[in-house]
Amino acid sequence: MQRDRGYKMSQNKRIFLSAPHMSGNELKYIEKVFESNYIAPLGEYVNKFEDSIKNYTNASNALALTSGTAAIHLALRILKIGEGDDVLASTFTFIGSVNAILYEKANPVFIDSDKESWNLSPKLLNKYLLECDKKPKALIITHLYGQCADIEKIADICKYHGVYLIEDAAESLGAIFNGKHTGTFGDFGIYSFNGNKILTTSGGGMLVSNNKDWIEKAKFYSTQAKEPFIHYEHLEYGYNYRMSNILAAIGVGQMEVIEDRVAKKREIFDWYKEYLSDCDEITMMPELPNTRGNRWLTAMTFEKTDYNKVMLALETINVESRPLWKPMHIQPLFVDAKKYVDGTSEDLFGKGLCVASSTTMTKEDVKMICDLIKGCM
Ligand SMILES: *Cc1c(COP(=O)(O)O)cnc(C)c1O
Repeated sequence: MQRDRGYKMSQNKRIFLSAPHMSGNELKYIEKVFESNYIAPLGEYVNKFEDSIKNYTNASNALALTSGTAAIHLALRILKIGEGDDVLASTFTFIGSVNAILYEKANPVFIDSDKESWNLSPKLLNKYLLECDKKPKALIITHLYGQCADIEKIADICKYHGVYLIEDAAESLGAIFNGKHTGTFGDFGIYSFNGNKILTTSGGGMLVSNNKDWIEKAKFYSTQAKEPFIHYEHLEYGYNYRMSNILAAIGVGQMEVIEDRVAKKREIFDWYKEYLSDCDEITMMPELPNTRGNRWLTAMTFEKTDYNKVMLALETINVESRPLWKPMHIQPLFVDAKKYVDGTSEDLFGKGLCVASSTTMTKEDVKMICDLIKGCM
């Protein structure tokens, strides 16, 4: 049927925003796990996966966990953030960045984006910190859609004001700012290996930090806070957050192709940019100077055309797309939360779309999608 519309779909298969893309070695490593019978909970692949992340990002210490959300939660716990504390966060993000603030009964304070990066505005951050009555304990900053926030400036501001920095690099593994990986600027960084991230272990996360003691402590909390006695003595409560050896085996296979995946994501973005270059009303998500984003999802805004129209049209040819994240400060869950905003993220949310960016896509797929997008205008 869809061929009749003039669009040649490869086998009419759905094109997803960001489908899992295995390297081919994952099954082999899973088999090795089975041979060793270290099915769970730990085993050599957990160490190997952590080592591969450390080698790649230059983080000194890494801890493999069940999810990126768990990693953020442990970071807050280690920093002793609790009831009544204020925690700053990017408002333009996915809820996974901020749920852990609620787990610890702390109060999120949402800071808006700037137009240059679509990420948290260092100007607003600094202004808030100069004006606020109550000093926040930490900032959780997101590198949106794999594009670097203005992280050097933001790290300096946090240092100056004595605010801990947690980098939510869930979407930005492989993104580099001035030669340094996102996730390694702050006190803690986190990566996610959820189903549609640039790499996936089907579900998983990583906590990194240059502070060895903190990562040791996080490991302790992630394995039920067992004191070192054979009978399991407990002085504190913990969590069951450690990654299994099987999932880590997938992660090791995935890490072998991280640079290929970043290159392909960036190529897909460039194809979109090329095919849509004659559309004046489209603005592609920017990239700050001296940075290399991973272009996890190609994101764009439409000045005149309703993005819903584009989304529905793409559905008719079985292509997935999604509005930009709805800012946290306009989520019903956070009606009472403090915010420091100037309308930037709300404006982007009203006009923006993430388009299919799976690394198995071809240039023809992107051309077909762009033709359809242009047809909506
Ligand atoms: C995916 C994501 C998370 C959560 O990671 P999980 O591994 O799914 O828990 C957090 N923050 C951002 C920005 C994300 O995109």
